[in-house]
Amino acid sequence: MRLILIIVVIFLSTWWIFQTKQHPQLKFNSISDRLLHPLDTRLRYRVADVDPRFGLSQQQVIQLSQEAAEIWHKGTLKPLFIYDPDAQLAIHLIYDDRQEQYNAYKQVQKTLAADKARNDLYAENLANSRKGLEMNEQQLRSKQAMIRAEIVQLSQERMSWSRIEHAQGPNMQRVERKLAQVKAQAMQLDQEIDRFNQQNDQFNQQVSSYNQQIDQYNAGVIQASQRFPAREFHKGVFMGDQIQIYQFDAEDDLRLTLAHELGHALGLSHHNDPAALMYPILGAQQLENFKLMPADQSLLYYR
Ligand SMILES: [Zn+2]
Repeated sequence: MRLILIIVVIFLSTWWIFQTKQHPQLKFNSISDRLLHPLDTRLRYRVADVDPRFGLSQQQVIQLSQEAAEIWHKGTLKPLFIYDPDAQLAIHLIYDDRQEQYNAYKQVQKTLAADKARNDLYAENLANSRKGLEMNEQQLRSKQAMIRAEIVQLSQERMSWSRIEHAQGPNMQRVERKLAQVKAQAMQLDQEIDRFNQQNDQFNQQVSSYNQQIDQYNAGVIQASQRFPAREFHKGVFMGDQIQIYQFDAEDDLRLTLAHELGHALGLSHHNDPAALMYPILGAQQLENFKLMPADQSLLYYR
């Protein structure tokens, strides 16, 4: 009887050790979970508290964590994870100055982008105004040249007729009338030129205020780069019984960060392929509809 018991215990321990070797993620399941689900080799995890300042509900984070697990399931065709509200492995979203800084950085970038868009539009409008003014100026000049030529011609005509006719003569009268008409046109033209010059002054004012805005924008860019120097953000960490997430951009980014940390929970280390999920820095990966890379699959194969 005792012998049978010893054999059973030895058999079960060997089985336990063998199963853990085959499925290293089982190390992070609680003993009671393993006893309750002896044939289930999936890693059980849950989402713990979610700081409301992240702007996501716990339900949303659970959904994203399940999508993260799905990346592994689709890429390996293996059942690796299961969501379990009582699991030992808990995902914590920890809100501290890292996310705060990142939010401030994003806000500044947004403001700068809006400034840039406004400046670009302003530049486009100025270019159009300049074109219009140039065209206007050309028209005014040719009109002015025509009127001047006409005045010269009529003056010569008047001189010629004055040798033949007295001032009340019909040709003299005709030339005088014509000359008066053309001079009235010249006066009107002078008014148009005044208006044009006013518009030109306004345009020059707009150009200088545009230049001021560009200077302001450039100062803003320099200020932002001083306030937020380029540095590596540590987005998350896997610690055996918990995954801590500190910083992410948006839901796509969080999903991939979770998938990366879940990869560590499978016992995987980093890979040097920048497109891989297990690359130490998130950046070069395809955030949306990410698919597991051969590099990630090989890590799992050789773990
Ligand atoms: Zn990592």
